[in-house]
Amino acid sequence: MPGKLVVGNWKMNGDLRHNDALLAGLRAGWPVRATREISVCVPFPYLWQAQAALSGSAISWGAQNVSEHAHGAYTGEVAASMIAEFGCRYVIVGHSERRTLYGETDAMVAAKAGATLQAGMTPIVCVGESWAERESGAGESVVVRQLDAVVSRIGGRIAETVVAYEPVWAIGTGRSATPELAQAVHEVLRKRLREHGEAAGNVSLLYGGSVKAGNAKALFACADIDGGLIGGASLNVDEFLAIAGA
Ligand code: PEP
Repeated sequence: MPGKLVVGNWKMNGDLRHNDALLAGLRAGWPVRATREISVCVPFPYLWQAQAALSGSAISWGAQNVSEHAHGAYTGEVAASMIAEFGCRYVIVGHSERRTLYGETDAMVAAKAGATLQAGMTPIVCVGESWAERESGAGESVVVRQLDAVVSRIGGRIAETVVAYEPVWAIGTGRSATPELAQAVHEVLRKRLREHGEAAGNVSLLYGGSVKAGNAKALFACADIDGGLIGGASLNVDEFLAIAGA
């Protein structure tokens, strides 16, 4: 059975004071014995703060990106081993903002997933099609291609990842995919994952793209949706906890 998981992606938001309030609010509001896991992926400078605020709680934390390289002359980059030192559980790789704004290719995303696993953390592998790709009928082939690129790099270790379907047109737009559409794509991804064995078929498949407290329940009720990757709404304690509990 895939684990149920709701992950907040703070993106490039936050400051020490607001983070303190947000992390304390999450810690106070999330039950220790919850059946669903929640996590927050914060900007690199705040990893220590998430670690300090959430250690010993039922909430895990992680990063939003990682270098595909282990160490060396890569100015401005952050290695997986460095992130792991902060007790991180997850690293988001291949978010569409990284792919479109920073030119990350399928191959780079795959290498980042590998580097994350190598350092003992779980990559949250993001896949998703643009609106033009969906309109042209290529939506499903795009997400399968993105997933296959990761599998071709890490092989059976795909079973140790989390996969997030995030249609690019739904991210930060307020225009979420319908549960029917999201489920249809998740079914395709699940089928593809199953081809790599039972464990791969059981990875947690998250939906991301304008999830709010108001639409989370219908999305999370879908057979192949195991939770969510939440952007904007993860910056508000009540909204994020309501989504996580949906
Ligand atoms: C995201 O950044 O991964 C995301 C899903 O953003 P939002 O929830 O704001 O659409």
